[in-house]
Amino acid sequence: MHIFPYQIKRTLLVRLPCGEDLLSAIERVTMEEQVMPAMFSVIGAVRNTAFGYYDQTNRTYKTLLRDGSFEIIACTGNVSLKDGKTLVHAHILFGDEQGACFGGHLMSPTTIFAAELHLRELEGERLVREYDETTGLYLWK
Ligand code: ZN
Repeated sequence: MHIFPYQIKRTLLVRLPCGEDLLSAIERVTMEEQVMPAMFSVIGAVRNTAFGYYDQTNRTYKTLLRDGSFEIIACTGNVSLKDGKTLVHAHILFGDEQGACFGGHLMSPTTIFAAELHLRELEGERLVREYDETTGLYLWK
């Protein structure tokens, strides 16, 4: 186990634009505001969704697509560095008109209808991802 100590440096509340891709919008805000490292949450609603399921045996992401209108029941994630670039990692839980939930690793395209981003910039050492042989994922080193 590795523990990375951080203080919350700054909190930003952002209304993300209707029609934009959710993951791209979060990436844009973190880069424009130079928020790194960070953690965040999002609530709101989306139109069409793409999300992933990591196949632990084959070490690949299966992409799932669903068309329709959905609530963002919960979306949480973090911002760190991978290969010197900003990487936004988010997981999302959607709710349909019956109240049934589904979700996974947030992917594009997931189109924003309305979204409120709560971004918390952290103060401390750089948070860098490296390839992990055990899982086949890029994890914090
Ligand atoms: Zn993930």
